[in-house]
Amino acid sequence: MELGCASCGACGLESCSGCEEDKNYIDTQKKEIETPDNRVVFTKEMKKTYKLLAPTMLPMHFRLFAEVFRKNGYDMELLENEGRKAVDCGVKYVHNDACYPSICVIGQFIDALQSGKYDVNKVAVIYMQTGGGCRASNYVSLMRKAFERAGFPQVPIVTINIAGLEKHPGFKVTVPMYRDLLNCCLYADLMMTLRNQCRVREVRKGQTDDLCDHWVKKLSKEIWEGKMKYSRVKENMRQMAADFALIERSPEQPVRVGIVGEIYVKYSPLGNNYLEEFVYKEGAESVVPGLLDFMYYCVYNNRLDFELYGMRSDSRLIWKIVCNYFEKKKNDLNEIIRERGVFYGFSSYKHLLELAKEHHCVGMGMKMGEGWLLTSEMLELCEMGVSNIVCCQPFGCLPNHIVGKGMMRPIKARYPDANIVAIDFDPGASRINQENRLKLMMSNARKG
Ligand code: SF4
Repeated sequence: MELGCASCGACGLESCSGCEEDKNYIDTQKKEIETPDNRVVFTKEMKKTYKLLAPTMLPMHFRLFAEVFRKNGYDMELLENEGRKAVDCGVKYVHNDACYPSICVIGQFIDALQSGKYDVNKVAVIYMQTGGGCRASNYVSLMRKAFERAGFPQVPIVTINIAGLEKHPGFKVTVPMYRDLLNCCLYADLMMTLRNQCRVREVRKGQTDDLCDHWVKKLSKEIWEGKMKYSRVKENMRQMAADFALIERSPEQPVRVGIVGEIYVKYSPLGNNYLEEFVYKEGAESVVPGLLDFMYYCVYNNRLDFELYGMRSDSRLIWKIVCNYFEKKKNDLNEIIRERGVFYGFSSYKHLLELAKEHHCVGMGMKMGEGWLLTSEMLELCEMGVSNIVCCQPFGCLPNHIVGKGMMRPIKARYPDANIVAIDFDPGASRINQENRLKLMMSNARKG
């Protein structure tokens, strides 16, 4: 990596080695970029001049998240390149025994870098590490190898994680930023739930999507204006629910289809071949548990480490407080969804945990991939009367095959009406095949 000078201007050259001021400046830069594993780090200087590219896993959520980063000085852009080309790029540069989400994410990045749209010496990429034991925490080494093979070894890879896995001097998520991101997650989970319950039944086509756009713009503006106090957030959420309740909807309740599974293929249109859109076009209502649940699951697992294995005793109290904080937010969210009497919400976290424990389908120590949460979500949907469930299974994902496909039998034993279909997603799976399986599931649901 080239080190720039401080541009003190004394010599008039772009880079110099004679002046003391510049030597000190270059020494500071050297310290910033030296790491034991020789990875390319995102420096403070890069924060000012580099573009950060982010994958679009959940379109509404990530639009708001990106706004929080922009407000805090990061030039973040959400990638819009999708489709077969991005997946093919992943297949070309990632080993074929890697799980499908890693192929999609890395493929989307490399496809964007090869597109010519960006100055590849002025971009970095960013993605989320869960900090757990599965590959989501280890994509970064796969990604580095793939970037090197594709000819982009200079591109820094920045990760967001709460486990402190990789540090970059130019990138820091502060406590206020975490708070804002959490509030954005609440906004987007609410919007996603209301959208799913309105869109398929709306009388005037396009009204729901227009309202979503209106709210994303309004909230983006508020993020910039710093209006992120929780009282304001709750006020906005109430107003949002009121606005959606005004959408005229047909009185007929369409078939409801629950969507669960591995986090990436559950939400990402690139990963699941536009599953939600397909369900909508088939005239059914998608019921999708929110992203906040997954965040809670990641946080709660730290408590489980203490309860089950006696680990993390020093930070036990902190995790307890954080879990209580999440539980409170989820209860508020549910209350706002339900208070108009026209929309339905999801279970509290307390109940979600009880479901996992009481039904003894899977042990709470199962916390790789989506772990106990995936089984609990399927049980929760059955309990809500959403017996038609699509469980999204990526190729190469051992944990989710255990807690997803592996748990179907015990769940069906408890809920005989459950109509659960596991759909596999991988680079070679045909979309027609996936859609035919979904159509079959829906026709069974309609007959029932
Ligand atoms: S949960 Fe499965 S698909 Fe997701 S990153 Fe881990 S191994 Fe890959």
